[in-house]
Amino acid sequence: MSITVVGSLAFDAVKTPFGERERMLGGAATHFALAASFFDEVRVVGPVGDDFGAEEMAILATRGTDTDDVEQVAGGKTFFWKGEYGWDLNSRETLDTQLNVFETFQPSLSRASQESETLFLANIQPGLQLGVLEQCEAARFTAVDSMNLWIEIAKEELLAVIGRVDCVILNDAELRQLTEAPNLVTAARQVLRLGPSVVVAKQGEYGAALVTADSFFALPAFPLETVVDPTGAGDSFAGGFVGYVAAHLDEGLTDDVLRRAMVYGTAVASHNVEEFGTERVARLERDEVEERARAIKEITHFEFENAKENV
Ligand code: AMP
Repeated sequence: MSITVVGSLAFDAVKTPFGERERMLGGAATHFALAASFFDEVRVVGPVGDDFGAEEMAILATRGTDTDDVEQVAGGKTFFWKGEYGWDLNSRETLDTQLNVFETFQPSLSRASQESETLFLANIQPGLQLGVLEQCEAARFTAVDSMNLWIEIAKEELLAVIGRVDCVILNDAELRQLTEAPNLVTAARQVLRLGPSVVVAKQGEYGAALVTADSFFALPAFPLETVVDPTGAGDSFAGGFVGYVAAHLDEGLTDDVLRRAMVYGTAVASHNVEEFGTERVARLERDEVEERARAIKEITHFEFENAKENV
């Protein structure tokens, strides 16, 4: 089975209270692919410029990710994003966004990418996401991410995308903004009524919540003392979550599968923030992911005093 991800491949400039990088590999599709590749074969679709070299391509291809549909635009420059975090790593300021090769990007997927059973539409213009959905009609599990910008300037198109996917993964603030519902559970249920069967609300350092028609589940972020750079945590979470679901599609979207997917998303994202950009997840090992998954179980498990209630 395989996963196709369409989204940004980027160079990021990031400053946090713990250091800065003037130019490092980033992008939503990059962080997603590095995380999802622990669980399934990943195919990345997106444009880059001449400045995207063999070194960046090699990181993207970590754990066998297929880069055949990465379009190198002659004379073009790769998407660039610059952001800064204060002591509260949950809030960041975007200082610069240069779309560059994304300005004229029209996704054209190879047959192999169109035939993936799982599709992740990372954060790009909703119009482009719709175009990709139309090319991937055979996908059995489709998920979408987005951001405040598109809710503000392309809400109708974004709602059209949401109406056609199985899973929506958004920040809690974006879910509220999209639905104009102040309560997170109410907002998630409103999104479920638009068509998806799963909504995941990402809550930064506070974790993530999973809402389906008849269940609710939430996990804290793994408590780390050293968080260096939160950039890409949301996409790493999505990569772990969607990657795990993709690898267990034959079991269906059961509560057990979805809850374990939440654990793996949380586990990979917690490693992502330990170092700048892709540095940590690019050399992360599967057994480290498993170890962190066990640690997440440990910190979220409890027993009732009365043994009868523990069944
Ligand atoms: P996250 O921290 O998971 O929300 O994602 C951070 C990544 O998103 C960075 O590596 C950026 O390159 C990328 N990014 C930032 N702004 C945009 C945008 N407007 N469209 C696509 N990708 C973006």
